[in-house]
Amino acid sequence: MAETFPFPTYIVLTIITITRLISTVGKTEVTGPSLVPSNISHRLRDDPEAIKLASSDYGNLVRHSPLAVFHPSSIYDIISLIRSSYTSSVPFHIAARGHGHSTRGQAMAPNGVVLDMSALRRNRLGGGISPVFCDPSLGSYAVDVGGEQLWIDVLQATLQHGLAPASWTDYLYLTVGGTLSNAGISGQTFRYGPQISNVHEMDVITGKGDLLTCSPEKNSELFHGVLGGLGQVGIIARARIGLQPALKRVKWVRVIYNDFSAFTRDQERLISISGDINNHKALDYLEGMLLMHQGPINNWRSSFFPSSDHPKIISLLVQHRILYCLEVVKYYDEHSEHTVDKEMQELLRGLGYVPGFYYEKNVSFVEFLNRVRSGELKLQSQGLWDVPHPWLNMFIPKSRIHDFDSGVFKDIILKRNITKGPVLVYPMNRNKWNDKMSAIIPDEEVFYTVGFLHSSGFDDWKAFDAQNRDILRFCEESGIKVKQYLAHYTTQQEWESHFGVKWGSFQERKYEFDPRMILSPGQRIFNNID
Ligand code: FAD
Repeated sequence: MAETFPFPTYIVLTIITITRLISTVGKTEVTGPSLVPSNISHRLRDDPEAIKLASSDYGNLVRHSPLAVFHPSSIYDIISLIRSSYTSSVPFHIAARGHGHSTRGQAMAPNGVVLDMSALRRNRLGGGISPVFCDPSLGSYAVDVGGEQLWIDVLQATLQHGLAPASWTDYLYLTVGGTLSNAGISGQTFRYGPQISNVHEMDVITGKGDLLTCSPEKNSELFHGVLGGLGQVGIIARARIGLQPALKRVKWVRVIYNDFSAFTRDQERLISISGDINNHKALDYLEGMLLMHQGPINNWRSSFFPSSDHPKIISLLVQHRILYCLEVVKYYDEHSEHTVDKEMQELLRGLGYVPGFYYEKNVSFVEFLNRVRSGELKLQSQGLWDVPHPWLNMFIPKSRIHDFDSGVFKDIILKRNITKGPVLVYPMNRNKWNDKMSAIIPDEEVFYTVGFLHSSGFDDWKAFDAQNRDILRFCEESGIKVKQYLAHYTTQQEWESHFGVKWGSFQERKYEFDPRMILSPGQRIFNNID
């Protein structure tokens, strides 16, 4: 059973000890009681700049200040930091901050220490990404990457060998450790599983400060516990990611529907065609999104429709108020460039989109995978990237997606008329997920991800938050068994209900690998941080 602490005493003592600790930074002799050994104490920062950065995240909704920010230069620094907390009579919280792209303080450590993984990215000798190699146990190519690495850098490094991971997120400026702690989903998930299904082995530093190699065969409880484990059982120091040949070009198609039944029927039919990269009959990517009259036709996630066609799309929108856009992709190279069009047309034959609302692009593989970046840079230049992001991401069982459409899209969303950011809607196959892992998904074989990716002003984010709560309340009252993705709850009871039958094993893994409840307090699962 895990140890628990009387919370107020813990905080007070932590403040005292860390304050003393910080006062010793730079001195060779430690004068007061110290939690952190002198060989790493100079890596702690408590200057306003470091504290400010670690107190906020992409969401811009919550703020929690740590007492200090730790800038490791190696995983051994991290081991020392965690051990010093674990062996102390008064342990302190530690939260790895990947790229800080959470939206609700998940990577924060109120009154604890934020472990700045970007410092490891800068400081780590050898760069943190291995050359690609053939993994003898799998007979396929793989790469070893540090948990602190950004996916964009993993892409660039592996492409030099003509290879790339199979599963992605829509946006690549996220860390390997950050997305593997959640799941890592995108349009490739229906075929290749989430990113967590593409990891073969990891080095993990547990909450006891032990560095363990784990895989489905070795230390498997740790392996499965970490993947989708919200940072609760260990820090991902290295992950071995499977690779496949990277084709150089992409055929990218969007078609528009005015009928939700036709839209979902076609999505479900298309994701039923799966298989490995050699199955040319399958798509490589499938997503979907809403188009609504209150938002621009193109958005920051990608600009696609030619401006000459905007009037035509808008007139369809005025007629129907809400449209559904299916987005699909096939990769190709010089060997398949003559057949890709035919293969795509075969796949799209008989689809029920509105005739004449077919759009396509040919772009490079990198341009496609990195498609959100240009929108980000544009928003940054307008000062619109660092605004509040009251996001809601959820998984919805296929059997209730029509009830969700009528109760949420066609009722709550249309009536409120405030949703302006992208709203994603696309299905995935449960059999591409591994139930032993910590990630939580609905029970059905096919389920949808729906993401309300709101950007708001600093004054009006509460209206979006209220809408999010109403959506969740509608689902609860209608008996739609949704699971939040990138979930945030404030009570352990809510987390228990989120994990459902997996709560027991999740708790056991926490007790085994982080018995003093040190790691990732910002998720608010085992720590009351208010
Ligand atoms: P952080 O926010 O820094 O950390 C997230 C959690 O992981 C925290 O609990 C933290 O303590 C823990 N953590 C961080 N590093 C480690 C580590 N090395 N070991 C153990 N725990 C660690 N998600 C998708 O799945 N698909 C998408 O398409 C997608 N698109 C996005 C687009 C944008 C613009 C943004 C802002 C987010 C998007 N996300 C997407 C969500 C994203 O996956 C999560 O927010 C993720 O947590 C962000 O990664 P990060 O590296 O910034 O992690």
